[in-house]
Amino acid sequence: MSFSALGLSAPLLRSIQAQGYTAPYPIQSQAIPAILKGKDLLGIAQTGSGKTASFALPILELYQQKQAGRNRYVRTLVLVPTRELAVQIEEVFRAFGRELDRPVKTLAVYGGVSINPQMMKMSGTDVLVATPGRLLDLIEHKAVHVSEVETLVLDEADKMLNLGFQEEVNKILAMLPVRRQNLLFSATLSQDVEDLMAKLLTDPVRVTV
Ligand code: AMP
Repeated sequence: MSFSALGLSAPLLRSIQAQGYTAPYPIQSQAIPAILKGKDLLGIAQTGSGKTASFALPILELYQQKQAGRNRYVRTLVLVPTRELAVQIEEVFRAFGRELDRPVKTLAVYGGVSINPQMMKMSGTDVLVATPGRLLDLIEHKAVHVSEVETLVLDEADKMLNLGFQEEVNKILAMLPVRRQNLLFSATLSQDVEDLMAKLLTDPVRVTV
């Protein structure tokens, strides 16, 4: 199996090569074609499995066919439990996005730091990687709108629930358009994750690695 067989176009293949990836990891060969088709996805995968590229690559690919969106209306929302994860994911999107014909702007936002610089950087953001509390603050300030989100990624869902983000996540979910693609990743499959999954995913492709 090669990355080119997964349906990714030349600019992304160049970035993949520049990252030194020679072949897709199992989660990538299963998730990338499904996400490109617009399917919902459940990924049971640990950090280190290559899960970030498994959603970043197809999301970037799908942007190549999109017209520009309205300013401050993000179309991809990646919800994460921690600042560290937000920053890591932002870096992966940026690294893979470098060669694209149509640039995709990715921004990470998280609590514990001043909100103003994040508000100022928001303009033109396509992919927003956010911790739940800070995202709600930014929505409150009208710095960002989530009513046109087309793809939702919930990463490390088990950790998100363990850290007590359930209520914030529910608030955010209620603001999203009903029709959208949902990608849920979790290292473990607890009852709480199952409940979230049942609420969030429609006819998902399941990938366990
Ligand atoms: P992740 O599980 O997304 O945190 O990725 C774990 C590590 O694996 C990161 O350092 C990635 O850069 C690396 N990685 C992901 N996919 C591949 C691949 N197909 N080939 C080589 N390294 C990879």
